[in-house]
Amino acid sequence: MIDFIDVHKSYVVDGRQVPALNGVSLRIEAGEVFGIIGHSGAGKSTLVRLINLLERPGRGSVLVDGRDMAALSSAELRAQRQQIGMIFQHFNLLSSKTVADNVAFPLRLAGRMTSREIDERVALLLDRVGLADQAGKYPAQLSGGQKQRVGIARALATRPKILLCDEATSALDPQTTQSVLQLLADIQREFRLTIVVITHEMDVVRRIADRVAVLDAGKVVEMGPVADVFLHPRHVTTQRFVQEAEHVDDADQYDAFSHVRGTLVRLTFRGEQTFDPILGEVARQTGVNFSILSGRIDRIKDTPYGQLIIALNDGAPREALSRFVDAGLTVEILRE
Ligand code: ADP
Repeated sequence: MIDFIDVHKSYVVDGRQVPALNGVSLRIEAGEVFGIIGHSGAGKSTLVRLINLLERPGRGSVLVDGRDMAALSSAELRAQRQQIGMIFQHFNLLSSKTVADNVAFPLRLAGRMTSREIDERVALLLDRVGLADQAGKYPAQLSGGQKQRVGIARALATRPKILLCDEATSALDPQTTQSVLQLLADIQREFRLTIVVITHEMDVVRRIADRVAVLDAGKVVEMGPVADVFLHPRHVTTQRFVQEAEHVDDADQYDAFSHVRGTLVRLTFRGEQTFDPILGEVARQTGVNFSILSGRIDRIKDTPYGQLIIALNDGAPREALSRFVDAGLTVEILRE
């Protein structure tokens, strides 16, 4: 659905070239939720603005639905942009217009529907985002979460295939973030949207995205299914994002375990095996004793996972480890 082919982009600031993207190649498939995570200045907004050609690539190309955005005529570009909805961190609503008029705005601009058709579509959209009773209010009278729901309704008005979310939940509290992400996940399934989520929070990626690219100084440093990247981050930037999301620092944690006896391992369970009684079975079969030093059990989108750090003592630790592997767990030995 969206192809970045060796895309470079720099800005001229005070007569100097400042690179923002430095050879980005990635493919976003139709119908997936694709997360792009990076620190401030990594190039995320630039990347997302290239998708609807608010920015032009310096080198390389961006294809949307197989078409090179930079090669379109202005009429074609207008049509193509209607396939792409966007929501923003600060909502970008028109403060002098009511909720209903904000949602109607792109439809009036497109000029293809009668007033009555527009009213009907707006009512349907507001109902879908849970704001049917707020149509006559002004943005200043709404909460942050409600404003973003208006933003979502407005973005969906022209029936786009792609929805771009630029830090869409960064201005919201955790509970509101949760409900807005749930709404996005629901409409993604309902309208078979391709969603691109730009964020600096791994937790947002974990909750909603299927795949993720980690952007660092204008380059993709890691990319893959969210479960792989989240549970086994390779690049140091990704590792920091995961640690932030988990509120742990692995290095500190290992120091805290330095006095613990035995073989230290990290076990990762994924999917339904998360709920299987594997630890107890292996302990009985191999005579090892284990102590759980730290652990978490949570979900990545719809997949449950568990990650435990345990210390193994007595019995046959090697045998226990190979049984964990046989049971499909990922085993990382942290200390022999
Ligand atoms: P992010 O969204 O990850 O914070 P941006 O894409 O906004 O990153 O910025 C990437 C780099 O490009 C930064 O160094 C930023 O200062 C620079 N940049 C972004 N937009 C502009 C612009 N319009 N003019 C000049 N420099 C810009």
